[in-house]
Amino acid sequence: MSTLQIRDLHVAVEDKEILKGVDLTVSAGETHAIMGPNGSGKSTLAYAISGHPKYTITGGEVLLDGENLLDMSVDERARAGLFLAMQYPVEVPGVSVSNFLRTAVTAVRGQAPKLREFTKELKTGMDSLAIDASFAQRNLNEGFSGGEKKRHEILQLELLKPKIAVLDETDSGLDVDALRVVSEGINRFRAAGDTGVLLITHYTRILRYVKPDFVHVFSGGRIVESGGPELSERLENEGYERFGKVATA
Ligand code: ADP
Ligand code: MG
Ligand code: MG
Repeated sequence: MSTLQIRDLHVAVEDKEILKGVDLTVSAGETHAIMGPNGSGKSTLAYAISGHPKYTITGGEVLLDGENLLDMSVDERARAGLFLAMQYPVEVPGVSVSNFLRTAVTAVRGQAPKLREFTKELKTGMDSLAIDASFAQRNLNEGFSGGEKKRHEILQLELLKPKIAVLDETDSGLDVDALRVVSEGINRFRAAGDTGVLLITHYTRILRYVKPDFVHVFSGGRIVESGGPELSERLENEGYERFGKVATA
């Protein structure tokens, strides 16, 4: 059973403190939703965990199964079982989706999958996400629609089987049909119970499809309230205003 422990995490961007002491523990089989207004630092949390060079850790620790993630390179974090789906994925001209995924799988598993087996695995994953076969040959993220980006994220999840998956705004830019397919993908994936999911979202919409076990409200760079699924329902009705006051305190 894997556990991600975030303890009193402080993060700065360009000398400005953005995260002001985040405490959170996510275990395999659990889905935690982090919800909060724009600019509250949700993406900063995701980037800091993943090792993005722009985000400076100024205090606290992040442990994956007791090992210090913050000491690891980005590649080492992926091999340790961390997966981050980014809000704004980068385009990589000249690298196909299929090549990218095979390289990622090779890096995480420590050895290259046999081409025929990988092709089969890829096809199964794409079929389950209603992704057209031609998608595998397209350049990574180049001209991807919102829905294609998100399906691609879930496809990565299915292939990489991380211990902890951080999904930042996986619901943004999706129409209802795409949201359903993506949510079903997340649900299928987490049903195995081997992965802890940190679902970061501004909107409550995706939480109708992907039921979180825990909901945390993020404001002003820290968690200001935690609860069960009922907390997201309350946010849907009341919005974040109640927490805005906390943010500036
Ligand atoms: P959220 O994801 O909750 O909308 P962010 O983590 O994106 O919030 O942003 C939190 C704060 O940190 C904002 O004030 C934002 O301007 C600032 N910030 C985040 N990333 C950067 C960056 N790469 N460069 C400069 N400022 C940043
Ligand atoms: Mg934002
Ligand atoms: Mg964000």
